[in-house]
Amino acid sequence: MSDRMKLAILLGVLAMLVAFGSAPAAFAQAAPATAPSHAPHWGYSGADGPSHWGDLDPSFANCKTGKRQSPIDIKGAKKDATLAPLQIDYQPSPLKIVDNGHTIKIDYAAGSSVTVGGKTYPLTQFHFHKPSEEEIAGKKYAMVIHLVHELPDGAVVVALLVKSGGENPLIQTLWANLPKTEGKENEVAGVTINAADLLPADRNYYNFDGSLTIPPCGEGVNWFVMKTPIEMSAAQIAVFAKHYPMNARPIQPTNGREIKESDFKTP
Ligand SMILES: [Zn+2]
Repeated sequence: MSDRMKLAILLGVLAMLVAFGSAPAAFAQAAPATAPSHAPHWGYSGADGPSHWGDLDPSFANCKTGKRQSPIDIKGAKKDATLAPLQIDYQPSPLKIVDNGHTIKIDYAAGSSVTVGGKTYPLTQFHFHKPSEEEIAGKKYAMVIHLVHELPDGAVVVALLVKSGGENPLIQTLWANLPKTEGKENEVAGVTINAADLLPADRNYYNFDGSLTIPPCGEGVNWFVMKTPIEMSAAQIAVFAKHYPMNARPIQPTNGREIKESDFKTP
């Protein structure tokens, strides 16, 4: 083989290495710029904070112009003897947990639901806010958990207020499996959770219309805020605070919305 031929082969191999080696890098660089419907960035302070959400994107208009926004300060509730306990049917789900840049979220497997007004809304996910977004007569709790149940034409959110107290076994399982990287969902092999383990024994609630508390702030959300708070230990609350020291939207005007309060005896 001549030197010239060896050089030609060497150059060919180099060209292949460059081509294959550089292809993924080029794709990785191009991907974010060309990704369709890239959601605008939003946060809880500064130029991307809640008072600016409505201006960040046309699809966020509800955050500014909506008249039935959440969260609200829950006061002046009317006791309604016709309000029955929520028909909650929660089944175990394999643990899928993600730090999505706004909160820690647990995606829930199909097969769990709440039934309201004859319609069954599947539980899709639950997540955390610190401090609680909701206020009860001006008082915030340490945190709140939002259990989100969705149909294409509406949603039911069950809110669990959290006070500092005893260690919560389910939260312990969640925090032991927190993802190391933001944005990457951790599917935990062999770990199953049941959201029913979070619910308080007394299921009396406040009920009112509202919205999602994050952009795009869509309305048509039927809120059920459990009157009895649940407990997490101070250490467990501190773990969340390390990720999200403050991820609560400020209180929104009630605009004359009726707030109902259930008053049934717990069996
Ligand atoms: Zn929420």
